[in-house]
This record gives sequence, C-alpha cells and structure tokens, in this order.
Amino acid sequence: MNYLSTRGAGAGERHTFSEILLGGLAKDGGLYLPADYPRVTADELTRWRTLPYADLAFEILSKFCDDIPADHLRALTRKTYTAATYCNVRDDESAAQITPLKTLGVEDGAPLSLLELSNGPTLAFKDMAMQLIGNLFEYALAKHGETLNILGATSGDTGSAAEYAMRGKKGIRVFMLSPHKKMSAFQTAQMYSLQDPNIFNLAVQGVFDDAQDIVKAVSNDHAFKAKYKIGTVNSINWARVVAQVVYYFKGYFAATKSNAERVSFTVPSGNFGNVCAGHIARMMGLPIEKLVVATNENDVLDEFFRTGIYRVRKAAETYHTSSPSMDISKASNFERFVYDLLGRDPARVLQLFRDVEEKGGFDLAASGDFARVREFGFVSGSSSHDTRVDTIRDVFQRYDTMIDTHTADGVKVAREHLQPGIPMIVLETAQPIKFGETIREALLREPERPAAFSGLESLPQRFEVVPADAQRVKDFIVANTGE
Ligand SMILES: *Cc1c(COP(=O)(O)O)cnc(C)c1O
Repeated sequence: MNYLSTRGAGAGERHTFSEILLGGLAKDGGLYLPADYPRVTADELTRWRTLPYADLAFEILSKFCDDIPADHLRALTRKTYTAATYCNVRDDESAAQITPLKTLGVEDGAPLSLLELSNGPTLAFKDMAMQLIGNLFEYALAKHGETLNILGATSGDTGSAAEYAMRGKKGIRVFMLSPHKKMSAFQTAQMYSLQDPNIFNLAVQGVFDDAQDIVKAVSNDHAFKAKYKIGTVNSINWARVVAQVVYYFKGYFAATKSNAERVSFTVPSGNFGNVCAGHIARMMGLPIEKLVVATNENDVLDEFFRTGIYRVRKAAETYHTSSPSMDISKASNFERFVYDLLGRDPARVLQLFRDVEEKGGFDLAASGDFARVREFGFVSGSSSHDTRVDTIRDVFQRYDTMIDTHTADGVKVAREHLQPGIPMIVLETAQPIKFGETIREALLREPERPAAFSGLESLPQRFEVVPADAQRVKDFIVANTGE
C-alpha cells in the first residue's frame, strides 16, 4: 500500500504506512492518503461479521499497512482492544464488544441507535484510535531504536487521550500544554492526576490559543525539533483515521442481519477526522446510505455541505460552546475528502487550499463537483445550546439514556435525516460526566459517573505552571529529556 499527498508534490514519491506513521503533514503541506482505497469483497464482509473487535481491526489495518508483519500487527490490535481497556460501561458483555450498540427506538420508521465509542480510559471516542497509536508508536520506535517527544496543546479531550495512550510507553515522552485553570475540574483531574514519569503536564498561563501558538513556535524551530525529536499526534495523523474506520464496520454489523442492508451514520464533527473515517469505510464498500455531518454553532462544515461554500472562521468568530470538542474554525482533515470529491486532482486541491490561506475559503457551488457531495452520501445539520439541552432531556425522558452534549448534537441532526427502514447509527463521542454542567442544566441532576472515576478530583495532581512563552517551554523540554 502506497501513500501520496493530496497536494501532489513529488508525484512519483511514494511512502509506506510505517513511513508516515510518525509524521504529520506531507512535505508540500498536503495530507497523506492511500494511492487507492482497498475494496472489501462480499466474502470478506461475511467473514468479518462475527469477528471480535481486535481481529476486525487487524483485518482492516492489514489492508492499509503491508510493512508490519501480520503476526506483529495482530498482536498490537489484540493488546489494544481489550475489555479491560474499554471497561467504562454497563456490564462485562458490553465491554467485550468494545463499541457496543445501544438501541434507542424507532423514529419515523428508522431504527435509531447509539454506537458507544467512549468506554475507554478517558471517556471520549479519541481513545479508540489513540490507544492503538500508543502501541504502534512504541513498536515502531523500538524497531529503530529511536525515541519521540510528543508535544501538543489541548483544551481537553485530545490531550488526555494522548496521555493515557502514551503513559508508560518506552521511548516516548508527552509534553502536553493546557490553559491554566480553564478546563473543567473533571478534565483537569483526568490529566493532572497521572503520575507516570514520561507524562508532563504544562499549565500555560493563558488561553488555549496561547498554548497552541507555543506548539507552533516550537515546531517551527526546525533545529530544536530535530535535536529533541519533537512529534505530534494531532487529528490529521493517518493511522488515527484508519483506526477509526474499524468501528463503522463494527456498528454496521451490530445494526444489521445481512450484508444486503444499508445503514446511515451521524457523526458529531469538528476537525472532520471521525467522519473522514466513515467516508473511507464507504469507499471500501461498506453499505452506507448517508453520512450525516453534525456540527454545533461552529458550522463551517454544515455550511459547506449545504451550500458548497467552505469559509474558515477567524478566532474571534469561533464560538465557545457547550460541546467544546467541536469548537473549530477550520476542519483539518477536510482536505482528504475534497481530494476525493475533485476526482483526486492534486493541482486543484493545492489551488483551493491556497485560496483558504489567502482568501479564507473557496466556493464549489457553481462547479459540477459540489453535486457529487450527495453521491458520496454526505448531508449535514447543526445544533445550538438550546437544541442540545432539549435533546439531552428528550433522550433521557424517552429512552432513559443519558447522553453528552456532543452526542446530543448528533441525535438532533440525525433526526433531520431519518429514512424509513434504514437504521440510523449516531456515534456517541463522549460520556456525560465529561460535560457535567450542561447535564445539570438539562436534567437537574448529576451526570452518571463510571465506578473507576469516583474521587478522581481529589487525587494528587502533578503539573507545572508556565508563562505563555515558547522559550520557557523549550527550556522545560531540554531539562526533562536528558538528551
Ligand atoms: C474530538 C471530538 C469530536 C470531533 O471529532 P473530529 O474527528 O474532530 O470531527 C466530537 N466529540 C468529541 C467528544 C470529541 O472529543
């Protein structure tokens, strides 16, 4: 399997899965995609239907990765997808499923269900891919006797998922910047209570954007980056996207009885990483009817899928919402879909994303390409604080099920795209306890707390407060890498 860049630089240049595993952007600023999407045969689909999650993950990863020996890859997926890791769920049987499907009911003739993706260590769907990345990175680094210092900025979910995936991993350190005193008590405790010596929490005196700017400044110091082996695990990482393809298959099998059936998925979206994996599953031949993109008030993607206009927002136009993990100004994985939409024409992709940088966006409304969005199954919708709160309340009253704010955005938009007889699967992206304030507002009660998290906020915390100054962060890295 060869990989190429969406912007086409060095068209003859090909890369393997392992070569792009630890990298981010391609050299030309594009994103990596496989040269062709592997297709799933009818026989494979039949055989995969009954596989345990870890073995399904192995089968799907094998199609994208031919430079890790099969027995090693299988060992990695089996080590990752265990009931012990995805245990924050009702019962053992659900834990064994890794991503259990929870049926809500039938609405407008469509069976409506939630695919639970947040039973892992940090209670958000990012654990699904990040836990595998932790094991893949450790494996790849050990093979070449290398080390890696992961530097990131987080406002919550990504940072904690990365830390829980990398804790205790050989050859890896994590330096995670978060805005000092700006995260919820639960999210802060989740990250800062980690005592592993390879995890460093830096509480930056500033807001999330200050933390993000420091990461950019350090990464742009190429000499420092090379000397201290600085890397990232942000949402454009290709292996993260592939790992997410797996649960679309798992969800499909759980919601259907035969491979003649079709299903739709609704995906609460921010950076377009999660739903990009759904697009890839569909390109592989999974019988997906619709891919519904659900956004919050930050509706960059909804606007595109309704109008053909992609208009990134300025920082001042980005809202802080009660589904904060979807608060984005632009969608960093969107370029992968645009590449496919334009019939894989890298010169046009390059031009469009130059327009994004220079003019703040592009308009495909008038071009024939936009009509093809529906051929790819995409539709969309958006949510607001009021509809989010109403949906949390409604789902609780009707189905006795507590959902978090992001999942609520998904259910709200899913209901606008139901088709009789076609199961609608909403991806559940976080557990309610992570966003307790809105649960209290909607339900006038405390969110459910998985047993393993009782007393989390009173555990001792380990973090370093630093000023919003890139040099101070560099000094900290130098002092703590011993290199
Ligand atoms: C990250 C995140 C999202 C958005 O996912 P993308 O891949 O960025 O589209 C949605 N919900 C939750 C809870 C998240 O943590």
